[in-house]
Amino acid sequence: MTLPPIDGCTKLVGLIGWPVEHSLSPVMHNRAFDALGLNWCYVPLPVRLGQVEAAVRGLAALGFHGANVTVPHKQAVMPALDSIALSARQLGAVNTLIIKRRADGTPTISGYNTDDKGFVGALHQGGFEPEDGGNGVVVGAGGAARAVVFGLLQSGIGEVVVLNRTLERAQALISDLGRRAPSDSPFPRREGDRGGRLRALPLTPETLVESARAADLLVHATTVGMWPQVDCSVWPDGVPIPAHLTVFDLVYNPVETRLLQQARRSGARAIDGLGMLVRQGVLVFEMWTGKPAPVEVMHAACERALRRQRCYDS
Ligand code: NAP
Repeated sequence: MTLPPIDGCTKLVGLIGWPVEHSLSPVMHNRAFDALGLNWCYVPLPVRLGQVEAAVRGLAALGFHGANVTVPHKQAVMPALDSIALSARQLGAVNTLIIKRRADGTPTISGYNTDDKGFVGALHQGGFEPEDGGNGVVVGAGGAARAVVFGLLQSGIGEVVVLNRTLERAQALISDLGRRAPSDSPFPRREGDRGGRLRALPLTPETLVESARAADLLVHATTVGMWPQVDCSVWPDGVPIPAHLTVFDLVYNPVETRLLQQARRSGARAIDGLGMLVRQGVLVFEMWTGKPAPVEVMHAACERALRRQRCYDS
């Protein structure tokens, strides 16, 4: 990789979060800028809790063109913005900022969310069409699960069952997404509406297996199975995963998780989390630069970075 020199014309974008050391986004975007010969640079920006509004004002003052926002700031950043896209407001989280300047130089900061679209794009690419109206099971109720459930509902999937270790968090997720829905959206007004499109259950081996048998899609959105706990899976040992299922694991480190191995062994379709990470990055890249993103370059850059991180961590 031959990065162009940073000079007075370099356009800056960055990532605000805490921590940011292991993020793949800097390498993914910088490699893409390089591949297209763009004089842009993406920098990781560690921002502590309570400092996000000051950080966003600082980005605007420093002439940044945009930023990604990651954990734990995706919600806290929202009051600092001049406008927020409808889908990000419905989702209740922002992961992308675009900073523009008016003729008098005043910056305006707009917030978007590409996580849900990244997920749905990767789902399509993996061969599953949520528009066909099947049913989904989502395991987890954190930030990633929220984007997944939102994306599935927007795509017109049938019922979604959310399973989580902490039941209250799953219940909060579904009632929160329902509460934020505009009146003309396909979202449920409350649990049980529209034939019970959203349900929350505690995560146990029994609820997982039973829900998965009645579903077409199983999405895993917890941290179980992430490096270094690569031998862990939420799916119980000795029980085959139903072969008709599509299994999407959001975990991308490692790319081939224990859950995906279990799915492939049972004959189910398996989709890894790296595609989602890259898809949301592609959307962000195109929003910032206005140019088609070099998808393969970005995917390969992430794979290389993961291999390198593994070498350092082990
Ligand atoms: P988060 O907000 O911290 O949520 C963590 C989730 O994992 C919660 O539902 C938590 O359950 C559950 N969990 C943690 N340990 C568990 C255990 N031992 N058994 C069962 N459940 C457990 O994290 P997040 O941001 O949503 O991220 C979740 C996963 O998605 C991570 O692996 C992350 O790398 C991945 N992710 C991937 C992408 C992508 O582009 N592919 C994007 C974002 C995130 P409780 O509520 O009970 O604590």
